[in-house]
Amino acid sequence: MANVQQRLPENVPGDFFVDSTCIDCDTCTQLAPQIFRDHGEQCSVHHQPETNDETRLAMMALVSCPTGSIGATQRHDAHIGIDAFPLLLEDNVYYCGFTSESSFGAWSYLITRPQGNILIDSPRFASQLLKRIEAMGGVSQMLLTHKDDIADHELFHKRFGCERIMHSDDGATRLGLEQVIHGTEPVQLDDDLLAIPVPGHTRGHVVFLYRKKFLFTGDHLAWSPTRQTLTAFRSVAWYSWPEQIRSMEKLLSYEFEWVLPGHGDIHHADAQSMHNHLERCVAWMKTVR
Ligand code: SF4
Repeated sequence: MANVQQRLPENVPGDFFVDSTCIDCDTCTQLAPQIFRDHGEQCSVHHQPETNDETRLAMMALVSCPTGSIGATQRHDAHIGIDAFPLLLEDNVYYCGFTSESSFGAWSYLITRPQGNILIDSPRFASQLLKRIEAMGGVSQMLLTHKDDIADHELFHKRFGCERIMHSDDGATRLGLEQVIHGTEPVQLDDDLLAIPVPGHTRGHVVFLYRKKFLFTGDHLAWSPTRQTLTAFRSVAWYSWPEQIRSMEKLLSYEFEWVLPGHGDIHHADAQSMHNHLERCVAWMKTVR
């Protein structure tokens, strides 16, 4: 729970606030940019909600914040935020909200399917979210893009009995996961689901392509709102930046319309525009040392 005594001075006066425990994960600024901003090393409220829609967005950010750093001085029904998740993006793909501190607020996603739902990376193991996922059919598979974003995977496995899939180079074998990806060749997980190893951010990073439309990118690829194109994160290329560039080039041969990252902004565009942005991203990466 956020503490009003620790309210950051950068917040504008009023009901909603961010306190000093904020870890600057940017979940709130991505979910509700009209309310929250990144003022440097932390985030704060730059505009107090004035409409029901804005209050709903602020409450969605409040329940999604991994550290409980967002608070309000007035009483609000928490279900305004809770019931918004999982949040439908398109078709049968949802954003889970409820981020976890152990994955630094990484975003996770849910695909609902008659043959069993899929969770991509791990949200916080929060009872309110679990109830809603259960009502949507539970989880039969958990796709883990890389070792940083696995958070509460064990608890999800115990609760839903889901099979977990991750690359051996990110510790899948050591963790005792049910399906282990090896090497750098793509692996067809289902008719419409492909795992593509993309070493760079970590050695065993994998992105998952669903229906040639939704690309779940973990920390490999995201949208840059400042440069208005696709980007990668040089400062956190823990394994190898040159390797990440090669992995990015490999993605040029795939078609997709959505980039759904763990960190960084989501982007949706037609496949050709996305391809052009990816080419721009690769060209930019080659200029960065
Ligand atoms: S979601 Fe929470 S931790 Fe993340 S930037 Fe916002 S206030 Fe800070």
